[in-house]
Amino acid sequence: MRLRVLGHSGPYPGPGKATSGYLLEAEGRGLLLDCGSGVLGRLGRHLSRDRLEAVVLSHLHYDHFVDLLVLRYALEADVKRGLRREPLPVYLPPGREEERGFLELGEVFDLRLIDPDEPVLAGPFSLRFVRTTHAVPCYGVAVDGGRFGYTADTGWSEELVTFFAGTRFLLCEAALQEADHDLRIAGHLTAREAGELARQAEVGRVLLTHFPPHYDLAQTLREAAESFPEAELSVEEAAYEL
Ligand SMILES: [Zn+2]
Repeated sequence: MRLRVLGHSGPYPGPGKATSGYLLEAEGRGLLLDCGSGVLGRLGRHLSRDRLEAVVLSHLHYDHFVDLLVLRYALEADVKRGLRREPLPVYLPPGREEERGFLELGEVFDLRLIDPDEPVLAGPFSLRFVRTTHAVPCYGVAVDGGRFGYTADTGWSEELVTFFAGTRFLLCEAALQEADHDLRIAGHLTAREAGELARQAEVGRVLLTHFPPHYDLAQTLREAAESFPEAELSVEEAAYEL
């Protein structure tokens, strides 16, 4: 299995960059985790749409799903050209009815609400979900029994330590730095907390993501490394073998 980071900015992209979007590939099939601004164009560089098995939207904040609105047009064109018959499964949290309404337009998406008690099998990818601590309903995901994990957006919680315990490769949000850690923007991890999560969960490898464009990422890395010295910054369009 391979991870490709399509976009790692948030909540808006810096110049030439994209917000959240991560492609998992296995057995010639793709699973897209989040589909933020600029992700669809990048996806096309690495996977043809007919090989896309499903999309998982961790939550319906715009930096995590807005490119799905134009993916709809692409899929409609594929249907017209005889390249697609079945709707694309999209797993997403309940709530945010107004935003979800945008995704209910057209017939190219098969919307499926995430239930943390229900594992999902999407082609070669087996998925388990955990509710995270965020301003809107949001789910992190474990793939293939902890071979890979993605925290999505979240504040600190002990439940994350339990859920991601022993994960071999954790993609972990680190949207804040210590200087910005105050209650007004709870619902995200500081880099120090991301490192602490990786340490307490005893993950094999941690890749940090979800970076505000104005941050000095050397500082993000320093803070994470206090708890987990091998923490790494994600690199857009880089591939990681899992
Ligand atoms: Zn969010």
